[in-house]
Amino acid sequence: MAELEGLEFGKSDFVLLDEVNMEQFMENLKLRFEKGRIYTFIGEVVVSVNPYKQMDIYGKEAIEAYRGRELYENPPHLYAVADAAYKAMKRRAKDTCIVISGESGAGKTEASKYIMQYIAAITNPSQREEVESVKNILLKSNCVLEAFGNAKTNRNDNSSRFGKYMDINFNFNGDPTGGHINNYLLEKSRVVQQQGGERNFHSFYQVLRGGSEEMLRSLHLQNDPVSYVYTREGAASVVSSPPPVLQECHTCQINMAVLMGNLQFETDTESVQVVGLEVLGHIAELTATEPDAVGKSLLYRTVATGGGEVIEKGHTEKEACFGRDAFAKALYERLFGWIVGRINAIIEVKDYNPVLHGKNTVIGVLDIYGFEIFDNNSFEQFCINYCNEKLQQLFIELILRQEQEEYQREGITWQHIEYFNNQIIVDLVEQPHKGIISVLDEACLTGGQVTDTVCLQSMDTKLGQHPHYSSRKLNPSDKTMEFHRDFRIRHYAGDVTYSIEGFLDKNKDPLFQDFKRLMYNSSNPVLKEMWPDGQLGITEVTKRPLTAATLFKNSIVALVDKLGCKEPYYVRCIKPNEMKSPVLFDDARCEHQVAYLGLLENVRVRRAGFAYRQPYARFLQRYKMTCEYTWPNHLMETDREAVEAIVTHHGFQDDVAYGHTKLFVRTPRSLFTLEQERAAL
Ligand code: ATP
Ligand code: MG
Repeated sequence: MAELEGLEFGKSDFVLLDEVNMEQFMENLKLRFEKGRIYTFIGEVVVSVNPYKQMDIYGKEAIEAYRGRELYENPPHLYAVADAAYKAMKRRAKDTCIVISGESGAGKTEASKYIMQYIAAITNPSQREEVESVKNILLKSNCVLEAFGNAKTNRNDNSSRFGKYMDINFNFNGDPTGGHINNYLLEKSRVVQQQGGERNFHSFYQVLRGGSEEMLRSLHLQNDPVSYVYTREGAASVVSSPPPVLQECHTCQINMAVLMGNLQFETDTESVQVVGLEVLGHIAELTATEPDAVGKSLLYRTVATGGGEVIEKGHTEKEACFGRDAFAKALYERLFGWIVGRINAIIEVKDYNPVLHGKNTVIGVLDIYGFEIFDNNSFEQFCINYCNEKLQQLFIELILRQEQEEYQREGITWQHIEYFNNQIIVDLVEQPHKGIISVLDEACLTGGQVTDTVCLQSMDTKLGQHPHYSSRKLNPSDKTMEFHRDFRIRHYAGDVTYSIEGFLDKNKDPLFQDFKRLMYNSSNPVLKEMWPDGQLGITEVTKRPLTAATLFKNSIVALVDKLGCKEPYYVRCIKPNEMKSPVLFDDARCEHQVAYLGLLENVRVRRAGFAYRQPYARFLQRYKMTCEYTWPNHLMETDREAVEAIVTHHGFQDDVAYGHTKLFVRTPRSLFTLEQERAAL
């Protein structure tokens, strides 16, 4: 077993702070970071600070130290949480989930990988081949998803540009039998445009730089990202630790999205034309379609007139560019969805018979974007921050609910604690007919005349009185009214001002049916499979597709439902500085994150209740040697009485409550004392 840490490393659980305030919290967090202790508990929650350097704490020895142990028996670690989730799943047949949150670059994805590795390492001791193969696929799926879904941003060289939730299924032995991945809101706008200094998704460069000459030739690609409009911005930047180069796989072929960006348009006297017919030909070849058909879908759209007649309408140059970009984004998004689908098909649990095999239990791991406040916040931040409101609500609800249930079960009185319920903000965003999403959707339905600004006015009218919504227009003393382009939401994590520009387009996310039909008619069966909606004729497309915000909302509601019925474990990640430095602890940045992650509240809730609980037998087994009445054996009638003897012997009877089956300890200090004494024997 790993040695418990000494006090010079700070308090290993924030619940142990002398007083719960920001100053003490930050002092402890900083001290631990500086001493190379990147993990700290708040009860069962792990707070993690990105070390920005390789730590020697993930090896085989560490895995063995945490395996099957109780949380407080070892220094804080991701492995402790992974083991707690695994134990709950195996011993009590509970579905559990590990929710990892924090801002971009805070270390969520790395944490999720260590957790997966831990679970892989402690399962299947008999090395059964089919289980090993499931584990392998689960671990390797990460690489593929990172290649297609991650990119270099200004905040993180390997930033996940999608949310990911992975269920791992276990049989009654506690061995993985399969899994399922859900992905959320891929940032597809990145395919066609990146901010200064950022890159497109890794996969583009992996194909362009890493593809064999032969492969590139067959794809009509040059091994130089500068040659392509969509990859030019990021061509110069090199990623310090790129994921492994993709092997030649046929999905890469669809990376011809990159070619799309090089298609330009010009307007001659009569109509809009494609410039660069050679590229057009290549695209047709790669998509197994006809060049004429590709050209046509880029320049015209088929529309049904009021009288049911079907006509072709030429695009303006601007519309053609818009259509091209929308098509490239959709190609990539569908490719990503298709890859996830393929992985799921392989790892899906097959032939599981609960009668024969016992209950199938699940551990879910959620690695999803954290709260975002940028200089300029748009539709994407709006969606991401809404998602964080939902997760925060779940966090509060689950943590309090679980506590309450446990106290009730054990016959212990629950002390109510006040906390901010962010339901009101969730409602502001998602409430039917009234919420922001609903106003946005209405504006999108109304058609061409409604601009972003008109939509904003309608939001002001409907939501002006809401305590968490404000807009400059609503403040009569603000004379900048005519430049009224933004609105503000008072999120639980802080105020965020959103620029309304582009909201409607991003929400509508239009893609001309002509492109869908083009792809559906491709003679490449994979492409055809990705575009089933292309089989509809123009007059058959009557139903408007759901908007992006509504689709996202639905997926997040489903996610929260999924998480809500599992026993949750939390990892809260903090990014120590903006420089990716292993030694810099930026106090202001860290304090901000601690505040919006609600960590102080978390400590308070934890302290108001009982920090630790242990079944009597287990407690006794671990600490009986610290008391003469229980060592080597006790003569009392019940384990509970023996535990009472230990507690009284150490003088912390005021710090505990006795449940029906468990001892409840209010502060970890008592246990900490016991652990020290035990270690000193
Ligand atoms: P995003 O939201 O942008 O996807 P993230 O929270 O997933 O960000 P990661 O990609 O996990 O962030 O971490 C960013 C970088 O920080 C990693 O590429 C790695 O260099 C470093 N890092 C994170 N955690 C650790 C760790 N435990 N040990 C060493 N380095 C780490
Ligand atoms: Mg990530």
